[in-house]
Amino acid sequence: MEIKIAALLFLAAVDLFFGLFVYLSNKRSPINIFYGLAVLSVGLWSLGVFMFFFSEASTLRFWSNFTYLAGSLIVGNFFAFSLIFPKEEWGRGFWRTAFLYLPNIFFVTALFFSNLIIKEVLIFPNGTRAILFGSLYFLYWLYFLVFLSSAFIILARRYFRAGGVERLQIGYVLVGSFILAAFGTLMNLWLPTVGIFDLFWLGPYFSMFLVTLLATAIFKYRLFNIRLISAEIFVALLIIVLFVNFFVSAGITAYLFNGIILLGGVVFGYFLIRGVINEIQAREEISRLAEGLNKANQELKKLDQLKSEFLSLASHQLRAPLTVVKGYISMIQEGNYGEIPEKLREALRRVYFSNERLINLVGDFLNISRIESGRLHYVFEPSIIADLIRSVVGEFKDFAKDKGIELSCQEPKETLPLARIDRDKFRQVIVNLIDNAIKYTRRGSIKIEISSDKDSILISTQDTGIGMAPEELDLIFKRFSRGEGATKVYTEGMGLGLYLAKRIVQDHGGEIWAESKGRGRGSTFYIKIPALTAEVKRAEQFKEFVEKI
Ligand code: ADP
Repeated sequence: MEIKIAALLFLAAVDLFFGLFVYLSNKRSPINIFYGLAVLSVGLWSLGVFMFFFSEASTLRFWSNFTYLAGSLIVGNFFAFSLIFPKEEWGRGFWRTAFLYLPNIFFVTALFFSNLIIKEVLIFPNGTRAILFGSLYFLYWLYFLVFLSSAFIILARRYFRAGGVERLQIGYVLVGSFILAAFGTLMNLWLPTVGIFDLFWLGPYFSMFLVTLLATAIFKYRLFNIRLISAEIFVALLIIVLFVNFFVSAGITAYLFNGIILLGGVVFGYFLIRGVINEIQAREEISRLAEGLNKANQELKKLDQLKSEFLSLASHQLRAPLTVVKGYISMIQEGNYGEIPEKLREALRRVYFSNERLINLVGDFLNISRIESGRLHYVFEPSIIADLIRSVVGEFKDFAKDKGIELSCQEPKETLPLARIDRDKFRQVIVNLIDNAIKYTRRGSIKIEISSDKDSILISTQDTGIGMAPEELDLIFKRFSRGEGATKVYTEGMGLGLYLAKRIVQDHGGEIWAESKGRGRGSTFYIKIPALTAEVKRAEQFKEFVEKI
């Protein structure tokens, strides 16, 4: 017996093994069931083709029937598979699938109990075998034509609609099955139709594409390994070509030569695939590491959140006693506990101011922890900004005077437009700016100016303090960042006030920026926020009116 025929038995075994493997790897999934059945049918078909050449005259008819029935089962199962792949749902697919098996029942009957599909099987004196087809044979190839092309159309349409992994999976299915369908039907369906049986043995060889391509694509490597699959296809093609080349060799030297080439091809293929697999493993390792990093990152985020929560809690706890201290100092200053000597008055003022600073700092902490946990909420109200600024300036006046700094506030004569602000938060911004100006100015003056045009209000604080280098002007608005000169003048600073101020001003739809002629030459900070225009004001009044009634 020729080796090319004997090898069919081996192919049949591989197909059957793969079919079983596919099914066993996930027994409950309909995809695995139908795909497994399709590959099993390929195995039966390969076995049938082998027996067609191997069997005695007496059983030849049986094996021919068997081969053609297996062919129809491949198509039926593949079609069922195309209906549910890759969604893995039974759904309506189940009923369609049951319906699909009807043609197969017909073929069993027609093949085994009549001469309608296969009329006669012949063995010529030289040993060649051939099949004469019956009058209903056209139904058989029609079935192939309709069901196979439908399956391909379904899969192709799904391929174009799908994305990502799904698209790749469908792509593999399409390529693998198309190779088998094209070559298998050519050699075992179309050529026999016109009486050519010379290549009848070659069809099952192409099942190797389907088996390796699909098995790796779906069940093992999924997305990553386009390279592996292409390497495998390449190697399989190479080996098939070399294999065929080997068997058609004429003469001993040719056999030897082609045998060596075939062996070389196998070794080359083995190393190629091994190389690709190694690379894939390296890539998987990297993705595992990345996953680890991701986890660590998440852990850190959690810690960061805990830190914010702690900050928030601690700030709350600190604020209450500080407010109590503030209340008592005020009462003492107002003389509620009797006349206070002039010397003590001065000390009390300093205590009061330090306490105020602490309250502000705690307020900053609280707001920052709110920003970080996404809980910074605003209550916007139309407000007279000048009033708010005047009151803050009033609070700082004495303290500035103590330092020998003149603090003044300049307002335009005409009334300023209102602005929609969250008073508490906006106040904190102004407090931070004036406090900074006092902190970072040794002598001279601080001028606060409010002005407006049609749609915005501009507030500026100009001091004669330590100033800033040009590269510091943007940096100071970042979290925890402090200017170089600042650390010498005021060691306790945290570098949070302006970060918070920027965030709050931006949330008001405004801008904040700093200007300075350079170190030692004073600084000016600007805040620009939208003014409440006449229409908006009217709308607000209307809303208030509606809410009242
Ligand atoms: P802190 O004052 O706690 O350092 P801020 O965020 O309020 O934090 O300020 C950040 C930095 O901006 C300060 O460290 C300082 O370098 C600079 N800065 C702020 N205001 C002034 C100012 N009026 N003059 C000079 N530098 C200033």
